[in-house]
Amino acid sequence: MAQLSPVLKQATPVVATHGEGVNLYDADGRRYLDFTAGIGVTSTGHCHPKVVAAAQEQVGKLIHGQYTTVMHQPLLTLVDRLSEVLPQGLDRAFFANSGSEAIEAALRLARQATGRSNVIVFHGGFHGRTVAAASMTSSGTKFRSGFSPLMAGVQVSPFPDPGHFGWSQEETTAFALKQLDYTLQTLSAPNDTAAFFVEPVLGEGGYVPASTEFLAGLRERADKHGILLVLDEVQTGWGRTGKFWGGDHFDAKADILVTAKGLASGFPLSAIAASNALMEKAWPGSQGGTYGANAVACAAAIATLDVIQEEKLVENSAARGAQLKEGLQQVADKHDEIVDVRGLGLMIGNEFRDADGNPDGSTAAKAQQEAAKRGLLLLTCGAWSQVVRFIPALVVSEQEVDEAAGLWAETIDAVL
Ligand code: PMP
Repeated sequence: MAQLSPVLKQATPVVATHGEGVNLYDADGRRYLDFTAGIGVTSTGHCHPKVVAAAQEQVGKLIHGQYTTVMHQPLLTLVDRLSEVLPQGLDRAFFANSGSEAIEAALRLARQATGRSNVIVFHGGFHGRTVAAASMTSSGTKFRSGFSPLMAGVQVSPFPDPGHFGWSQEETTAFALKQLDYTLQTLSAPNDTAAFFVEPVLGEGGYVPASTEFLAGLRERADKHGILLVLDEVQTGWGRTGKFWGGDHFDAKADILVTAKGLASGFPLSAIAASNALMEKAWPGSQGGTYGANAVACAAAIATLDVIQEEKLVENSAARGAQLKEGLQQVADKHDEIVDVRGLGLMIGNEFRDADGNPDGSTAAKAQQEAAKRGLLLLTCGAWSQVVRFIPALVVSEQEVDEAAGLWAETIDAVL
């Protein structure tokens, strides 16, 4: 009998049969509050009726139209609708199937546009598992170790993580920018550097928001040296942080924006957006794939955007995020082991440390498992897996947030 590969290590024993909103159900009818949203993918909740209807209708009309040969209407409509949400000036889009593929597309475009080979990424960044994306990832050695030789030409510079350094945000940002200048001076000369790749909030790296000054510092150096600034909004986009883009919190201005996850409510779809001038540098045929911009996924993305707008989900993310953060902070206030509750909107992490102040992944894992026993599904993140994160669908209600905060309080009482 065939079995799943052991690389798929499951953190909880839950086998879901169906989902609705923020709820998942197993075969026994047991309900779980899903505060993972499939790593933030089911932005409109599980099986939102409008997304289901749009996908079902599209399945009956056309499932696949290979975009290098046959264009299809959902793709043309989606690209048109994206202009409602894309940052000004980024009005050309290219579509792929996953975050990693979109990161690769951004890398190719950056190299094509600048004629330079290197990229600079930041400590704790996660950009995917394909070999190029993993080469640009430093949120944990499990993504890199044993896969050498990784792609050459990647330098890693510090991300402003005040908790890690034990400094203020200002000190940490000043340090990170100084180190970036050092990197540009010693390891990756500006005229060899195609792009900076950065997340507005470290996702897999532990839910650490960047700072306005840091992203402004990247913009300044990018402009000065003709380097492109790539914002990886795979995890932070589509309302997740309480604004449409994570970069909006920091007034960040990207040359290339990368998005996936929440874009199509669970259907595989990702995109990059850039200016016309930049996209013109990519020659036809240099990007693309068999399944890119699948018609059903595009129809689901259009419906996702409708739902986000009609149900004011970005606003809900901000309001419910504030409520959730307060509830989690109340739990942390009673326990020294939870040293930080941080994040933006519905992207909130709880960091665990032991009595010596070291990152404590084993307590975080215990909390995740105990929460699942109580019907609350959560994920961990951080280089030591020391952060338990809450990322429910953007449709989460006030009552569901209260319920999750209550289950978390019970979980922590049992674990600590
Ligand atoms: N970038 C970021 C910021 C991510 O969080 C992820 C996925 N966790 C990726 C890229 C890769 O996306 P995918 O898993 O769809 O390849």
